[in-house]
Amino acid sequence: MTGPAPEIKSRPDWNNWKWQVSNTQSTRAQLASFLNTPSLTDGLSRVIEKYPWAATPYYFSLIDTHDAQDPIKRQCVPCEHELDFSLPGSDPDPLAEKSHSPYPGLIHRYQDRVLVIATSRCFSYCRHCNRKRNWNAGNTVPTSADIKKMVQYISARRHIREVIISGGDPLTLSAEMLDRMLHDLRKADNVEVLRLGTRVPVVLPMRITKELTTLLKAHRPLWINTHFNHPRELTDDAASACDRLLCAGIPVSNHTVLLKGVNDDVDTLRSLFTGLNRIMVRPYYLFHCDAAKGTDHFRTSIETGVRIMQKLWGETGGLCIPRYVVDLPAGGGKAPVMPSFLLHSDGNTAVFRTSEGRIVKYRGALGAGGNV
Ligand code: SF4
Repeated sequence: MTGPAPEIKSRPDWNNWKWQVSNTQSTRAQLASFLNTPSLTDGLSRVIEKYPWAATPYYFSLIDTHDAQDPIKRQCVPCEHELDFSLPGSDPDPLAEKSHSPYPGLIHRYQDRVLVIATSRCFSYCRHCNRKRNWNAGNTVPTSADIKKMVQYISARRHIREVIISGGDPLTLSAEMLDRMLHDLRKADNVEVLRLGTRVPVVLPMRITKELTTLLKAHRPLWINTHFNHPRELTDDAASACDRLLCAGIPVSNHTVLLKGVNDDVDTLRSLFTGLNRIMVRPYYLFHCDAAKGTDHFRTSIETGVRIMQKLWGETGGLCIPRYVVDLPAGGGKAPVMPSFLLHSDGNTAVFRTSEGRIVKYRGALGAGGNV
């Protein structure tokens, strides 16, 4: 059985995104009711004081309530492990975004692109979020004056060609605000491409309305990166939402985070990535879980990630295989961690181990040389 209250899904307003938002689960009482307990433990109370919780009725309904380790539940229902800070390296700001912020709300970590924090609000709060430090900071949406300063910053650096609008979730903004922000950011004439990071297709697919896709279409070239982590999130509703974006000419790519107890096995990820391929969403990155404070219980080893990638290479096509990357601490940027099939290269011969474990010699691998 899936979902805490199946009858709720037959409500006539179930598909109305505004109804979904106004019925978001976020109170202590709703959490206690879901956990079937008269009151929350002290530990859980401290967790939600530090890291608030919210889940749309739609996303909440994907939980299999009979499974204590349900992967959807692990992503949206708070647990006491969030206050277990025992793993080394955990940091509230694991990617050093603060020190790469030339202006509040603007992060400049890579040469040719900047990231705008459009809001700190999300429709559902992912317990593994690497920006969960911001959830309690109050909602900060850049004003027109802030955007103007960002545009000045971008215009003065001609090598910046892309603006990533992230958050929080920028699709929580009103249509008017989003439209104005996208329009104003384009005033920097060196901006070639906009990219929106949003989990809305996963947690609130009914928000992808005709009006919204028309709005987004007007700001192309615009790419969307979304964030499916488990094949059970690939519902018909989610697939239709992605299709509406694609039909509006907006390419949709996906970031997955490798999460212990959610998707850290080959079968789950193969099913997720082939499912994304089926709905024409590109599996773009598999992120190693960042060392964000409050997410220790989701972290697994890099070796696990490499083993999974190695198996995937042997079992499915390249269009279903994302790049596995570690976002390095202290703003070191993304480091791809692909399994190596090359054992050694010696003179004119390279020796490989295939994904099935066979050793294959490739003679003449030296080729005619090159410029690198
Ligand atoms: S939608 Fe994105 S920003 Fe919001 S909680 Fe989830 S991962 Fe974090």
